[in-house]
Amino acid sequence: MAAKVPRRVAVTAGAAPGTGIADGSLTTVEAHQAAILAAISPLPPVTLELADAEGCVLAEDITAAAPLPSFDNSGMDGYAVRAADTDHCSEREPVTLPVTAEIAAGDTGDYRLTPGTAMKIMTGARLPTGADAVVPVEWTDGGDTRVEIYRPAAPGNAVRYAGGDAAEGETLLEKGVRMRPMQVAVAASAGRKAVRVRPRPRVVVLSTGNELAEPGTPLVPGRIWDSNSYMIAAAAREAGALACRRAVVPDDPAGVLPALEEQLARADLLVTTGGVSMGGEHDVVKAALRELGTVTFRKVAMQPGMPQGFGTIGERKVPIFTLPGNPVSAYVSFQLFVRLAIAALQGTDDLRLPAVRATLAGSVRSPEGRRSYLRGVLAGGQVTPLSGQGSHQIAALGKANALIVVPEHQTRLPAGEAVDVLVLP
Ligand code: AMP
Ligand code: MG
Repeated sequence: MAAKVPRRVAVTAGAAPGTGIADGSLTTVEAHQAAILAAISPLPPVTLELADAEGCVLAEDITAAAPLPSFDNSGMDGYAVRAADTDHCSEREPVTLPVTAEIAAGDTGDYRLTPGTAMKIMTGARLPTGADAVVPVEWTDGGDTRVEIYRPAAPGNAVRYAGGDAAEGETLLEKGVRMRPMQVAVAASAGRKAVRVRPRPRVVVLSTGNELAEPGTPLVPGRIWDSNSYMIAAAAREAGALACRRAVVPDDPAGVLPALEEQLARADLLVTTGGVSMGGEHDVVKAALRELGTVTFRKVAMQPGMPQGFGTIGERKVPIFTLPGNPVSAYVSFQLFVRLAIAALQGTDDLRLPAVRATLAGSVRSPEGRRSYLRGVLAGGQVTPLSGQGSHQIAALGKANALIVVPEHQTRLPAGEAVDVLVLP
């Protein structure tokens, strides 16, 4: 029997998009990512009502139309005073001031404080002219017509000055920032009813395969329920896209292109799963798209997820990903490649999975020349590889919260090693 010689696999930068194929050699994950990013242009900006802007990416700077806050106001419920009038007071020798008004938040009156008096004031209410401090109600007896004050207030105490958060004209949010709840609040605080944004990309997902049946239908020997389209649509939504799945496309070479073309009008990005393996005659997606010449099929130096197709389709050059059919392969491919494309369609790069270092809690194996993304459970700086690392083993995927990265040149790593781990969304 011949001695087992480790197989060396050339890892190259791969072919340029649209050239068809880089058969025989493997493309690195990074080279495939770079080819994807190079081919994607951001969606044109649209103006959206603020309520619809969450998850979109700003296509303009948002500046403060007025200082934030726009007027001096009270930071606490209490009494607006002249600080000097509370000098030297104490629990034992309180100062007593007459209360001449009560100012609630939203009161637009122009109050003037006479020295030697106090005005009851609520949090957020405009500070009366002549006052320079607020005595918190906790430092007083809480009186309505007169108030006993037990602690001196320094000038500026509990006062929120106009412009203390941001000056008029200051840039509050920069172009390219994703509108999360905090940023929506900032835009609203700047008085914006609508904003210019790059919208959430519309992603359409199609599963291909004669073996696929709809969940909810009876299980027939030889068939499996389609999980990929549900999974990928959900993952796209999680990444901020507007995603929908379409009915399963059968392995019919003549049917694949029409099924894709039918979706083009409502898609900014298409994702298929299945039909791109390494040469089976049932690989109808590969066969149909190869004809177009605008989609490149590569072997990427990774496991799972080696066969990857990416390119554009139709007049609008809609990006299309043809992901491998095994569910774990499709999932890992989505997280490594499609997420980046979704971000790029919004003109940004904020959807890469966060990477952390962690200690392996069990040993792992990996094929020579391919980077493994093993499913694991990350907790407290330790990552435990799950049993069931096959690319069809969706049950194990369902337990994972992280991908353990095993570099191309490593074939095994013992427990206790420090590894890179990608945190799953
Ligand atoms: P393919 O890439 O089309 O050769 O598919 C590889 C394997 O992935 C198939 O044999 C199925 O077991 C599985 N598979 C393909 N598509 C799906 C899907 N939509 N949902 C679940 N499993 C799938
Ligand atoms: Mg198939």
